[in-house]
Amino acid sequence: MPIYFDNNATTPLDPRVLEGMLPYLSDPVYGNPSSVHRYGRAARHALDVAREQVAQLVGAEASQLTFTSGGTEADNLALKGFAARQPGQRILVNATEHAAVIEPAQALSRQGVQVDFIPVDDRGRVDLQALEKELARGKVGLVAVMAANNETGVLQDIPAISRCVRDAGAVLHCDAVQIAGKLPFDMQGSGAQLVTLSAHKIYGPRGIGALIVDKTLELDATQQGGGQERGLRGGTENLAGIVGFGLAADLARQELNARASHARTLRDRLEAGLRRVPGTVIFGDGAERLPNTVQFGTPGFESETLLMSLDRKGIAVSSGSACHSGKTEPSHVLLAMGVPRELALSAIRVSFGQSNTIAEVDRFLEVFEGIVRGISAAIPNRGSVL
Ligand code: PLP
Repeated sequence: MPIYFDNNATTPLDPRVLEGMLPYLSDPVYGNPSSVHRYGRAARHALDVAREQVAQLVGAEASQLTFTSGGTEADNLALKGFAARQPGQRILVNATEHAAVIEPAQALSRQGVQVDFIPVDDRGRVDLQALEKELARGKVGLVAVMAANNETGVLQDIPAISRCVRDAGAVLHCDAVQIAGKLPFDMQGSGAQLVTLSAHKIYGPRGIGALIVDKTLELDATQQGGGQERGLRGGTENLAGIVGFGLAADLARQELNARASHARTLRDRLEAGLRRVPGTVIFGDGAERLPNTVQFGTPGFESETLLMSLDRKGIAVSSGSACHSGKTEPSHVLLAMGVPRELALSAIRVSFGQSNTIAEVDRFLEVFEGIVRGISAAIPNRGSVL
């Protein structure tokens, strides 16, 4: 049986979610939520229910939530919508953000917005002193710090960060794509005024996400159209996707504790096994991390080789962020943490989901150790392991 250990890249659609989506893909609910007739009203009702469900997952108000085509669009909307509404404001970005934040920040920088990066420590946590220094160096409009890193799973202390950001009169954007549904995340408690979510990381469909905007804040739309989503995101709503997102969020909220403790059991077993492989380094070790994520490096081995060998044995993992695969450059996340280039190039990310089992972890460890041993035997001075 193949083993899927790449749930931070995407999760399979929960069959309960699929079942709930089907009536919105053809019959009986095919209306456009903007239409005033009964078909439209039925669609509008489904949209409103889903908005509540998604907002509830992160303790937000439904009226603050805008559906987008995914986490990437929500991150883009947060940064570009803010910059368009408050031109000339400086933006600070955590160095380990996902490309969905870094790329729009760089695009804004090319357009003349002052963008600076905030460093992290060797465990991947935002350096609070460096953040305070940057905030004191000149007026800042927006700060972007993710709640949990997609590669290492490292959690940021968002409440502490948001206190610094608010004291400096700036706004905090928090990409909560990876934490939502895995650990409790409460928008109010976090202090963030902008929060990004995505459905396909929580067993919902792809191509649907959300940006939650605190009611004290206004953004400019980056996509104009028929005034949908309170004018913040024009375009006929992806109703089936939205319904699926709502159902997935509802299930994630109800099952959060069970999912987290299941993932923690698998992670602890995997880490105990990896610690027996000499030289193996778990990135972000000692920092608070997502219960389902382990990223590790094995000096002297290339992640692409390991990944392909694992794939041949039916085990799917990632070498870091799936969005970066194909590039042989080491992960910017690991480099920002000060991980040496060669070690960073050996990174493998395992991310568990609901259906993974202890037996799969044991099989992974057996196969991984076998691959490492095989490569070491074939090329004796390659790698310091085994
Ligand atoms: N932000 C983070 C932290 C992610 O992990 C991802 C997906 O990998 C995204 C944003 C992008 O979300 P989407 O795939 O829904 O565009």
